[in-house]
Amino acid sequence: MGQISTLQKRIWANKLRKSFNTQDIDKELIHLTEELGELMHAYRREGKAALAEEATDIVILLLGFFSFLDMDAEKEILKKITKNEKRKYIKSQNGPGHIDLSKSH
Ligand SMILES: [Mg+2]
Repeated sequence: MGQISTLQKRIWANKLRKSFNTQDIDKELIHLTEELGELMHAYRREGKAALAEEATDIVILLLGFFSFLDMDAEKEILKKITKNEKRKYIKSQNGPGHIDLSKSH
């Protein structure tokens, strides 16, 4: 088991121990949105330490979210990174951004 999987298990165990939300996905997504707001607040008004802490809150919530889905976050992250690495992109001629060549239109 990798480190991300270990972190995911610790996060879920802590939620259970403290009787935090482990049932209601809607509530968890609202919480995630709140944490995104806190990250933006930290970006605009606070320093690097607060920004790192708020970004970490989001990572913790997201790792816990995989437990709601009964999925292994590490496995899913590795799968998606590999998928992203295999995608071929070209720079768009019409301004910023890239065109994903692997997507069929
Ligand atoms: Mg926070």
